[in-house]
Amino acid sequence: MTVLALLLFHWFLSLFCQSFFLHRYCSHAMFTMSPMWEKFFYFLTYIAQGPSFLNPTSYSILHQKHHAYSDTPKDPHSPVHSKSLWDMSLKTYSEYKYLIENHKDVKDSAVINKSPIWPTLDNFAETKYNIFFWVLLYMGVYYMNGIEPQYYLFIFIHGFMGPIQGAIVNWFGHKVGYRNYNLNDNSKNTLPFDFALMGELYQNNHHRYGNKMNFAHKWFEVDITFQISRLLNLLKIIQIKST
Ligand SMILES: [Zn+2]
Ligand SMILES: [Zn+2]
Repeated sequence: MTVLALLLFHWFLSLFCQSFFLHRYCSHAMFTMSPMWEKFFYFLTYIAQGPSFLNPTSYSILHQKHHAYSDTPKDPHSPVHSKSLWDMSLKTYSEYKYLIENHKDVKDSAVINKSPIWPTLDNFAETKYNIFFWVLLYMGVYYMNGIEPQYYLFIFIHGFMGPIQGAIVNWFGHKVGYRNYNLNDNSKNTLPFDFALMGELYQNNHHRYGNKMNFAHKWFEVDITFQISRLLNLLKIIQIKST
């Protein structure tokens, strides 16, 4: 029971950071916030993703290319041009890694928004010490909660949380589900009520209106990340540009 609670807590914290900060802020600039809050959410994303922290600059470039070249051979992650989820993830990973080192060389008209950077944190997150630290911490938390040794296998899920969630959205969001808009790509809305990926699985809606903060367009669709963002907007922590 504790294992499940820990996994769920980590799942939704990590997911929120990816959806809210990496996707909607760093890649699409759907809202603004003060430099202080920007640092806060940058650090929160690092805490949430730990050993699999997704470099915001690299993530943002990949994602902007995904929108511009959706489901064409130039799309960094399309299930249409990949044999399997694993194959797609490996291709994404190699381009992502290349961009960490070479992002300054990118000359692509698809890349409009510039992601914030935090070199000290970004560089540390790429070291083996970072992985070592987080795995030890996860084991410590399991131990302190009296979790039985066979469940320590779940530490793999904690360790790859960011890429696992990204791969699910990239694969299923362009392969399985229904469409509200007839677009040239293969984007789908996978779940009518996307509780599992907090709104990220409304890929068809999101590809139709790439700058709208609310990914839910029908009465039965609920975008949980947007609902939390509305509250943050109300509290004047962020300023949403367009809903
Ligand atoms: Zn997007
Ligand atoms: Zn997409």
